[in-house]
Amino acid sequence: MKVIIADQINEKGIKELEDVADVVVNTSITQEELIEEIKDFDAIIVRSRTKVTRAVIEAAEKLKIIARAGVGVDNVDMAAATEKGIMVVNAPESTSITVAEHTMGLIMTLIRKISIADKSVKAGKWEKSKFMGIELNGKTLGIIGLGRIGTQVSIRAKAFGMEILVYDPYVTEEAGAEIGVRVVDLEYLLKNSDVMTIHVPLTPETKHLISKKEFEMMKENAFIVNCARGGIINEEDLYEALKNNRIGGAGLDVFETEPPKDSPLLTLDNMVVTPHIAASTKEAQRDAAIIVANEVKKVFTGEAPKNVLNMPVLDPETFHAIKPYLKLSEKLANFLIQAAKGNITEVNITYCGELADFPRVDVISRTILKETLNSILTEPVNMINAPTIAKNRGIVITESKRSEAEGYKSLIKIEIKSDEGELSIEGNATREPRIVRIDKYWVNVKPEGTMVITRYKDIPGSIGTIGTKLGEHGINIAKMQVGRQAPSEEAVMVLTVDQKVPVDVIDEIRALEHVYDAVYVQL
Ligand code: NAD
Repeated sequence: MKVIIADQINEKGIKELEDVADVVVNTSITQEELIEEIKDFDAIIVRSRTKVTRAVIEAAEKLKIIARAGVGVDNVDMAAATEKGIMVVNAPESTSITVAEHTMGLIMTLIRKISIADKSVKAGKWEKSKFMGIELNGKTLGIIGLGRIGTQVSIRAKAFGMEILVYDPYVTEEAGAEIGVRVVDLEYLLKNSDVMTIHVPLTPETKHLISKKEFEMMKENAFIVNCARGGIINEEDLYEALKNNRIGGAGLDVFETEPPKDSPLLTLDNMVVTPHIAASTKEAQRDAAIIVANEVKKVFTGEAPKNVLNMPVLDPETFHAIKPYLKLSEKLANFLIQAAKGNITEVNITYCGELADFPRVDVISRTILKETLNSILTEPVNMINAPTIAKNRGIVITESKRSEAEGYKSLIKIEIKSDEGELSIEGNATREPRIVRIDKYWVNVKPEGTMVITRYKDIPGSIGTIGTKLGEHGINIAKMQVGRQAPSEEAVMVLTVDQKVPVDVIDEIRALEHVYDAVYVQL
């Protein structure tokens, strides 16, 4: 396995990789050189200098993983990587402590007026009474967004003796209570916090989350800090609130436009600013290098990396619960794609019973798509690019859920529609993978080995003629399963056989009287 490290990363990360891979460090490689050389590499690690463009990705022949030793992935063409089935990973947790510490730094600077006091002393003044501050002890901190960084801030703020309120619609009161914070609504937080700090992503929901109305709700001497993303606080409204001393002060590491250049905010004394450096520490860079090196190592040793940005990743508990159904879904999709005829136009997946309540069935759907598409396409399909490839090929995918599972605890139903008809299969994995239904016929088939599936008229002698035909060609029947709805009507029979069945033999079975169709499936 070969890895190219195209930007400078910490030595510790490089050392981690040298145990398992052939590592090339070339931190001055140009775009043109990278396009030329990328075909030899299985992994690339970058920071922000190197742009992993569509041209680089298209020139790659073996590339499995693009790793960004840091958080933002603006320098990686995510769409191109996803189309090609290359995973993109980053190291979001590498900066959590660093950003939390910077947040505490901005809070302390604000409440103790450190930066203006510093300027004053350096200007030869000694204005002790001008810089009266407040203590954090006993005050209330409002944390907006209790993710990785918000949680680290809560731990540090508690050490300062603060009470913590949290606004995060995705965190329950119980989860908050477990780490000693009170989850409240935004209005309550704004009205009751002495200091507020923002740790949410910038999304349409959080854009200008803090504007005029919110500033008006805040306590008179409240302080607010933003080390998340510019644009979450409305800067015009912040300027008004600070200029009119509506609030005590604000600290920003991030701005709507960076650098903020002519922003009037920069003229205010009750404002502390830093140039988007909350994540910039040696430790964060070291940790980012070690984290992505380990992610690359995992890919090389067949384990699942945890920070994949273009594929759903499961926590160990969910993975354990879902694993039997991943295996089942592979079997079902393989069976179906061999048994179905024509060009596929639609794949409909239904999760029934308890499985309908599983949190991450989308991973099962991707597995089904991957197996289905891999059997019909020559281009490599994996869990990452399966939905994109299906879409590009005009294959319609639907996913639905049903609480009823026909007497089973859980069932997966896959239906394939093609230009020559449709076929469905249902399976259960409570004890072991089982096919329990083929179209409308209930069966109980272990999905393994070689199988001949026939549709025939359920009258005396039909089964015998099929068995005899196989016998004539020296093919031994190991197991037989019959599914029917009513005597003398159409029925389905699944024969598990000991040998491979040549196409000619399947044709001969199809030609038998009372046999409507026969297919051969190998799992
Ligand atoms: P995270 O994903 O771990 O946490 C984000 C939290 O925000 C989650 O708990 C989520 O539930 C919550 N959230 C989402 N939408 C919300 C909403 N509308 N209202 C309230 N809460 C909401 O992310 P993180 O690693 O803690 O990072 C937080 C922010 O910090 C991100 O915007 C990230 O880009 C930024 N960041 C900035 C720097 C920097 O250099 N200044 C460095 C790293 C991260």
